[in-house]
Amino acid sequence: MIRPDAPVLLEIRDLEARVEDKAILKGVNLTVRAGEIHAVMGRNGSGKSTLSKVLAGHPAYTVTAGSVTYRGDNLLELDPEQRARIGVFLGFQYPVEIPGVSNLEFLRVATNARRAEQGHEELDTFAFEDLVRERLQVVQMDPAFLERSVNEGFSGGEKKRNEILQMALLDPLVAILDETDSGLDIDALRIVAGGVNQLANADNATLLITHYQRLLDAITPDYVHVMAAGRILRTGGKELALELEQRGYDWVDQELAALEAAQTRTPAEVA
Ligand code: ADP
Ligand code: MG
Repeated sequence: MIRPDAPVLLEIRDLEARVEDKAILKGVNLTVRAGEIHAVMGRNGSGKSTLSKVLAGHPAYTVTAGSVTYRGDNLLELDPEQRARIGVFLGFQYPVEIPGVSNLEFLRVATNARRAEQGHEELDTFAFEDLVRERLQVVQMDPAFLERSVNEGFSGGEKKRNEILQMALLDPLVAILDETDSGLDIDALRIVAGGVNQLANADNATLLITHYQRLLDAITPDYVHVMAAGRILRTGGKELALELEQRGYDWVDQELAALEAAQTRTPAEVA
């Protein structure tokens, strides 16, 4: 839901980042206000996951220019755990398996860290079990998954549901979901999308990173951004996703080529 007077949660300005020696993000600009759902689309390799990892504070990615503020504060100077505690959530494209760590205990520790930041009381094992059982319904997940190691041996769809369960418990203000739809069958997709829709409210915001329109059939974005070669090439409403579905990404390549040609031209040539 777009409300021009809603508080800005995330403000990304001219963000550039590299991994190892490779420049990937080349000037990303994005403003996210409370209540909004943004979709970030783009070809493979356009920098979508890099953007999400930079926002989450992944150590392999170095910010070389620009800024990111979260509720007015510099997000980039915080470590990943601090970011999570203050309400920035990243659902990974490839959720990691953590053998030997109980999913229930992992969720409880993470939830309590977030609750402490929010000024809520810590939940003991029993109180947490009550909460988690209630939130399991958001993703229609079997409680048996709580007893297993984090994501270990989970199918692709189960891992993604587990990510949404984490989100349901952590109550983030900015949720960044990277390719949450990849590897999901239709039923899992519907459940995951339903979970995201249930959790979206007027105070939080969601950044859906997705390749395909099909997730956006179930979650209606307020804005759609098309990423190409490390920047946002175009922004529109939900109809932009449909256009991508129909026309593919070839026009994006053409627009990008035109943009890059214009940028490499010398002032003399332009004149
Ligand atoms: P997307 O999520 O849009 O598919 P990514 O952000 O994953 O794109 O990748 C953007 C580019 O950065 C790709 O060319 C990819 O190969 C490169 N890249 C991403 N992560 C790394 C890494 N850890 N090491 C080297 N190159 C990387
Ligand atoms: Mg990706």
